[in-house]
Amino acid sequence: MTHLDTEMSQGSDFIRTIIKDDILSDKHKGKVATRFPPEPNGYLHIGHAKSICLNFGIAEEFNGATCNLRFDDTNPEKEEVEYIEAIKDDVTWLGFHWHGDIHYASDYFEDLYAYAVQLIKAGKAYVCSLSADEIREYRGTLTEPGKDSPYRNRSVEENLDLFERMRKGEFDEGSHILRAKIDMASPNINLRDPAIYRIRKAEHHRTGDAWCIYPMYDYTHCISDAMEGITHSLCTLEFEDHRPLYNWVLETLKTPCHPQQIEFSRLNLSYTLMSKRKLLQLVSEGHATGWDDPRMPTISGLRRRGYTPRSIRKFCERIGISKKESRIDVGVLEACLRDDLNENAPRVMGVLEPLKVVIENYPENQVEEMDMMNHPQKPEMGTRKLPFSKVIYIERSDFMEDPPKKFFRLGPGREVRLRSAYYITCTQVVKDPATGDILELICTYDPESRGGATPDNRKVKGTIHWVSALHAIPAEIRLYDRLFMEDNPEKGGADFRASLNPDSLTLIPKAMIEHTLAQAGPGYIVQFERQGYFCVDARDSKPDHLVFNRTVTLKDTWAKINQ
Ligand code: ATP
Ligand code: MG
Repeated sequence: MTHLDTEMSQGSDFIRTIIKDDILSDKHKGKVATRFPPEPNGYLHIGHAKSICLNFGIAEEFNGATCNLRFDDTNPEKEEVEYIEAIKDDVTWLGFHWHGDIHYASDYFEDLYAYAVQLIKAGKAYVCSLSADEIREYRGTLTEPGKDSPYRNRSVEENLDLFERMRKGEFDEGSHILRAKIDMASPNINLRDPAIYRIRKAEHHRTGDAWCIYPMYDYTHCISDAMEGITHSLCTLEFEDHRPLYNWVLETLKTPCHPQQIEFSRLNLSYTLMSKRKLLQLVSEGHATGWDDPRMPTISGLRRRGYTPRSIRKFCERIGISKKESRIDVGVLEACLRDDLNENAPRVMGVLEPLKVVIENYPENQVEEMDMMNHPQKPEMGTRKLPFSKVIYIERSDFMEDPPKKFFRLGPGREVRLRSAYYITCTQVVKDPATGDILELICTYDPESRGGATPDNRKVKGTIHWVSALHAIPAEIRLYDRLFMEDNPEKGGADFRASLNPDSLTLIPKAMIEHTLAQAGPGYIVQFERQGYFCVDARDSKPDHLVFNRTVTLKDTWAKINQ
């Protein structure tokens, strides 16, 4: 009997179907155990979020199921503690919890070694002393079988002796490797006596210099899964051809548990890259300011940009799980974010490019408190008071000196509604005599129109946002656009650097925003009315120098451009 409840799972995709069937047939004795196995060689990206939502999601959905977090740390050179911490933060931020302690493949180094000795004793592994070039040569190609290594028939005793001396550090890197003895003529290259141990005289972040031989990924992964009692080992499609090796190792070693490897297609997203190695390159070459640059598709970049865990989880749910390779339009991710922020972000006033307006008939020292709703569709989010005074700022783009007929904002002699305040009419445009630049506008207001009331049924179509000059506070605003100009920055093998968008960041040094944001802390997200969603930058914003990132625009401007 199983204590797992198949009804719990909301999602339905081929993997969840397999799991439900396994529960019904009690294949895994009442257990469902998945794992998320990142290599700590970079920060997680949105593609990893797909895998996280799948693995941890299954653990949440099926009663009694578990998901381990395991660092696949078999590569001593490239791995850093910084990445481990960042990965833990990202998983937690997404709202998931790993089962029990964190696992490390390096915890199993001793077991992996013992298993390798077992393989040697069974005549299923041998020490090969060909050079790397020779090994490549002997491997054959997709169309030609490989050739047996001359060392393939070393005796068990000789192999045991050499392998032990490899461990002791008697040999140089590259002089010997341990290989599984499978089939050099296999049509699957992964089965042509793959390497399972190599010599690396490198310090490991957890085991220090205890080891100078390190197990290979394919060999390590299946054994780690088995040792943790994983039932369903979910990975991306590029591992499909490795599955026979995964199974060979576990069958040959007769491990007590034999997890089922199931592959699904990886996430590819338009206008960005999805590989830690390439993302590292963006950082190290200075195309991005760091792994958490708000333009990066990393989870830390998305977080700093203002993405919410809810929006990312919604996105992963929406794209689903299948075996079909595809490239998802980044607009889908942005739409999930907009849906969430539209629901939840409070509305505030922020003038990105301020144009000063003096209201000539407004009393000199008067300040009125205007009632503003924090969310027009959600009265439960409350109201706030916004001061109004004689000098205000409006958006420069809300004024045109010579406006076309359909421009329903401000122009000479035209009237516009200030959101939740008064109607104003532009009476004069003050310019710099030398440059002709507009310095300020002189307007009059209609005292009868307070709070948007229409005194005599006259038509005023446009409503614009504003802040009181006396009360508003300055803020730096960073407007982000896509990092790449090409849908697929690597199309046809192109160097992705050629399609970097030179305008992916626009700085607005001094926007004027409403005073209620003076205390806004890192990560706080608002909608600046009519402008978009913005988030207090977690790294650079200071109480005396607020910095906001534009999270996303109100509408998908790209959808229009591409029509
Ligand atoms: P990258 O190519 O970006 O370095 P990786 O696959 O080498 O990614 P790992 O740290 O090995 O990174 O990945 C951990 C898990 O996340 C693996 O199970 C992997 O299949 C999955 N994963 C990685 N990239 C994606 C993606 N784009 N879509 C879905 N899952 C992914
Ligand atoms: Mg990898």
